[in-house]
Amino acid sequence: MTSRRRLRVCVQGVVQGVGFRPFVYTTAAALGLSGCVRNDDSGAVIEVEGDAAAVDDFLHRVRDGPPPLAVVESIAAEEIPALGGTGFTIADTSRSGVGRTLASPDVAMCADCAAELRNRADRRYRHPFVNCTNCGPRFTIIGSLPYDRATTTMAAFEMCADCAREYADPADRRFHAQPVCCPQCGPTLSYVAPGRDISHREDALRGARTLLRDGGVLAVKGIGGYHLACDARNEAAVAELRRRKRRGDKPFAVMVPDIAAARRITVVDGPAEAVLGGPQRPIVLLPRLADSEVADCVAPRNPDLGIMVAYTPLHVLLFGLEDDEPGPNLLVMTSGNLGGEPICYDDGDALARLAELADGWLLHDRAILVPCDDSVIRVLDGAELPIRRSRGYAPLPVALPVPLPPTLAVGADLKNTMAVADGRYAWLSQHIGDMDDLATLSAFDSTQAHLRALTGVDPVLLVADAHPMYRSTGWAQRNAHGLPVRTVQHHHAHIAAVMAEHGYDGSQQVIGFAFDGTGYGPDAAVWGGEVLLANYKGYQRLARLKYVPLAGGDVSVLRPYRMALAHLWAAGIAWDGDLAPVAACPPDERTVLAHQLETGLGCAPTSSMGRLFDAVSALAGVRQVVAYEAQAAIELEGLSRGVDCGVTAYAFGVDEDVIDPAPVLTAVIADARAGVREAVIGARFHRAVADLVVGLAGKLADSSRTVALSGGVFQNALLLRLALEGLRDKGFHVITHRIVPPNDGGIALGQLLVGNSG
Ligand SMILES: [Zn+2]
Ligand SMILES: [Zn+2]
Repeated sequence: MTSRRRLRVCVQGVVQGVGFRPFVYTTAAALGLSGCVRNDDSGAVIEVEGDAAAVDDFLHRVRDGPPPLAVVESIAAEEIPALGGTGFTIADTSRSGVGRTLASPDVAMCADCAAELRNRADRRYRHPFVNCTNCGPRFTIIGSLPYDRATTTMAAFEMCADCAREYADPADRRFHAQPVCCPQCGPTLSYVAPGRDISHREDALRGARTLLRDGGVLAVKGIGGYHLACDARNEAAVAELRRRKRRGDKPFAVMVPDIAAARRITVVDGPAEAVLGGPQRPIVLLPRLADSEVADCVAPRNPDLGIMVAYTPLHVLLFGLEDDEPGPNLLVMTSGNLGGEPICYDDGDALARLAELADGWLLHDRAILVPCDDSVIRVLDGAELPIRRSRGYAPLPVALPVPLPPTLAVGADLKNTMAVADGRYAWLSQHIGDMDDLATLSAFDSTQAHLRALTGVDPVLLVADAHPMYRSTGWAQRNAHGLPVRTVQHHHAHIAAVMAEHGYDGSQQVIGFAFDGTGYGPDAAVWGGEVLLANYKGYQRLARLKYVPLAGGDVSVLRPYRMALAHLWAAGIAWDGDLAPVAACPPDERTVLAHQLETGLGCAPTSSMGRLFDAVSALAGVRQVVAYEAQAAIELEGLSRGVDCGVTAYAFGVDEDVIDPAPVLTAVIADARAGVREAVIGARFHRAVADLVVGLAGKLADSSRTVALSGGVFQNALLLRLALEGLRDKGFHVITHRIVPPNDGGIALGQLLVGNSG
């Protein structure tokens, strides 16, 4: 007779709303074990009883083969008295305990649900809300934990008998799938357009598809908010959307029905395909194919296209199934908002705020509880480089290298995210946006409340950027309610974020290159071309780009020709009329600018690498005025990719701890005057910046053999690739971002570590 035992097994991690209990049930049943499983505040609690060998086997399977969306962080098992009995149950009751469970991100429609959507014989044929335990909305519909239907926005929909049966059947794919529904009991679509009656269900879908086919702009409710959609091949439709959104040249993302369609317009390699088709379904930045059918004004002069594959059943229906009338096969899908405002996610708000932007609205009655923008990913070296970490990723926890007390970090100012930490976990919020908008500030409040509700973190400390004028810093001070607020230097936080991602406990220092557009320095200068020797406790500024005067702040950011003139002035190079940025600067403005630079009036010194890219882009003749952040640098990079820069390399001067761009500028001007192509000038400049990084690391190698690269400038794929190659050739260990963005969307993670290391 074999020995019988009973274990209580506590599983922590992302185990709710990801099909974990059904998996436990079927695993136990397959092994002939009895017992039960339930969710509690800290995860899943399993009691399992039977043959000792089978119980061991069960534990292994839970550890090694959990469902695809589950993240098992820890398993603790204790022996308890055997009770006998047969059968395995899933208990509904949640019992409060210590610890916490983790909410799942939203998940793209799975293959099984996609098949049902297309299967005429299935009762969910053409059901725009088909989902199961393996897919569907989560983060954006859960108000609090534990995750049960009652705490989601599906609470309003009573399950029909068929759905209730599936929900209760442990053998069914929808067993305890909280958002489960069907055409009988689920949400319904509506289509609203000025001057016509509101229509529903298939009529609504038809109305929306007709609008898209006819070149109109459709507001469509998605998982984390409204998109504005139009036919991506229709130049006039895209131009009109651009005009209404007051979008300038900022690129739009394109949604495609499948990977095959993505391949027709962009270069999709193996790793990119995996990300494109994965459960997160982010926007993936991919090199665009020449003469693709995509309208030019989708992403003017941009080397890449942001592509995402349809991720909800509603998207798939918008593209149309076999029997539908043909419609657009490529759709612009951009956030439903104006300019830098937060994305619309409430129906009434969408109807009001998008009134001037959309020609029709495709809505439904499943509420979105919190907004969540699409994520944006670049694939580099076969790995993900996040540009915006939001839908599909938030609120997956980031494992921390050292345990932290409950902390709230409020991030920076642009592209902001916040983060909470407790113990070995950090949770980053979804993308919140640029904090200069009043609406964003209110989104900041609600994001914070939701993040705290889902994680149960009750902060004892707040951490903010050292910039006294950042709205996030002001928010932290207003909302501290007596708790300490620590501030962290911007570029130090960038470097700490990469270190944290890579599991550094802070005992070792790294050489950090933090290259970005702007960040507050303790000397009140605008930093941005920084070489720091850093751990979490502190940093030493080993080198920096030479200060040049930033005249008039934002106006010089929007007009790269001004940055070029400032750099020429600082380098003692004459403003000759044949230079592109000199020609681009109106004479009156040139006079005022010269006066400002001479007197320092309205000028702040800056070591910004981002602004140097702007200046070189202008000098090379690529771009003099920008409509969105980093446009000049992006276009310069786009021209330079794959271009052989020949033997003529530019080189920065390095004098002690100051990096002097003057020799590079002189060489750029000489090339431009000699008629060297913009692309070649750009390639030589990228090479020079990469050489600078490798050269400085070599000089500083006694301090550390580990190099960290962070800051928005390292979103530049060409620069990052060149720097990585050079540093690895020299034997450096290089750490770059894989989990959080190198831009300011990753700052909050670094703040958590630095703020707790004082
Ligand atoms: Zn599914
Ligand atoms: Zn139903």
